[in-house]
Amino acid sequence: MAEPILSTAGLTRRFGALAAVSEVSLAIRRGTITGLIGPNGAGKSTLFNLLTGALYPDAGTVALAGEDLTRLPPDRRFGLGLGRTFQIPRPFARMSVLENVMLAPMGQTGERVIGPILFPGRVRGEERRIRERALEVLDFVTLRPLADHPAGKISGGQMKLLELARVLMGDPKVILLDEPAAGVNPVLTEMLIGKIEELNRQGKTFVIIEHDMDFIMRHCDPVIAMAEGRVIFEGTAAEARANPALLDAYLGAPVGE
Ligand code: ADP
Ligand code: MG
Repeated sequence: MAEPILSTAGLTRRFGALAAVSEVSLAIRRGTITGLIGPNGAGKSTLFNLLTGALYPDAGTVALAGEDLTRLPPDRRFGLGLGRTFQIPRPFARMSVLENVMLAPMGQTGERVIGPILFPGRVRGEERRIRERALEVLDFVTLRPLADHPAGKISGGQMKLLELARVLMGDPKVILLDEPAAGVNPVLTEMLIGKIEELNRQGKTFVIIEHDMDFIMRHCDPVIAMAEGRVIFEGTAAEARANPALLDAYLGAPVGE
């Protein structure tokens, strides 16, 4: 197998007595759309938080393209090519769609306090560059007509596209999507999938948490399943569907979502 683009070894995170993620060792293959499934509370979102640096592990390591990320803060990981969207999108509601995208970090000089003082010309130049890039990205996700709308006023599905746009500002190698289809109408879901597949053909790797098994079956290969903080299955979507341990994990889980 080729060197994985994203990997973990022995990754563990406890909340009090609960091991939300327990001894997880994973290798995400470059160029895949990997599905991550498992019942509610399995630890999927916590795993994403550990990958992106929103949470730090009690034990274990995270590596991107062979580089150890374990102690790096989220912005450094984003800068190295690891992007994610949230299960519940949280845009700055009163800012416009365009402003929300422009705020996504790209390593601009203007962020540093000293930048605007020493290099005012460069800051203006960078702002123009960021704006152009943001408009390009909005075009790609089909939100350009809504560029000047307040981000709080767009639909749930459009917010997922906005999240994707923000992630694309960083030119990520790997994109983690937490339940991209949840609460999104079928037309926008198809649109989003089309964009994911286009980006995948351009070489981007995806890891997608999704409950909808039809979505997983049609778009993800391989599939990884978690239950009670552990990885309990890795294989194709068809194998996942036929796996008795997985069925048990879902049947034993609290009903929800
Ligand atoms: P999933 O995304 O698979 O539904 P989560 O990763 O959100 O699961 O949660 C895994 C377990 O960890 C759950 O039991 C959840 O209640 C718990 N958990 C998640 N985040 C926290 C937190 N910040 N504090 C305490 N417990 C948490
Ligand atoms: Mg979750």
